[in-house]
Amino acid sequence: MRTCSQSGPGAARTPVLVHAGGLIHARDREEQVRAQAISSGIFSLLISSSHINKRITELAHNIICTERARRHEEICLLIVLKGAVFFGCRLAREISSAGSLPVAMHFISAASYGNQAHSSGRCRIAGNLNALHGKDVIVVEDILDSGRTLYKLKNHLLKKAHAASVTICVLLDKPGGRKARFQNMGRIDYIGFRIPAVFVAGGGLDYFDQFRELPFIVAVHDKALCV
Ligand code: 5GP
Ligand code: MG
Repeated sequence: MRTCSQSGPGAARTPVLVHAGGLIHARDREEQVRAQAISSGIFSLLISSSHINKRITELAHNIICTERARRHEEICLLIVLKGAVFFGCRLAREISSAGSLPVAMHFISAASYGNQAHSSGRCRIAGNLNALHGKDVIVVEDILDSGRTLYKLKNHLLKKAHAASVTICVLLDKPGGRKARFQNMGRIDYIGFRIPAVFVAGGGLDYFDQFRELPFIVAVHDKALCV
């Protein structure tokens, strides 16, 4: 990650961050603060936006092939808010632009982290799941860490929402964070990237409820977050 100056009016006070995936124009005070957080070394680039987008296209193709082979007539995505919102929407677009199967998008909220680096040990699931009765559901989640959220969500979908089947698609997998008691949730069918045990932000994931919108993923080097 490096900074460079922009040409044209206002160039002196408008830093532009250059990263592997493109340019971020820091247009106002808030964005300048964000830009400084990135350039100050708190963040380091882990996965560029071009890598993320390329991988989502691959995942979409894998999903289409598998769903066709399973003779499913629709691809039913359950996007877990808030972290998977960008990933899920992009995945839905990629599947849809391949044009072979209709895509249904559903949303659910599942929270276990709060504003800390360690999972709270509890997981709150909120959302109307009536529409998923009898469906072959693909859960789209931002990251698999301890496994608690997806373990609980999968059980919830099968036992309470009466989904016909549950398949899991995660953008990131942090195997170093896995807790033994959540190992038996079954296979994770689709994984974007395996990452080391670091706290990450961007690509939908937050750092103190900010930075979700970054199109790339950064590792957060904050000593208060001992992951
Ligand atoms: P798990 O229940 O598997 O421990 O954690 C899953 C949830 O914790 C994810 O959906 C995500 O919201 C949050 N999480 C886990 N690791 C990270 C991380 O490195 N950064 C952020 N921002 N959230 C994380
Ligand atoms: Mg999440």
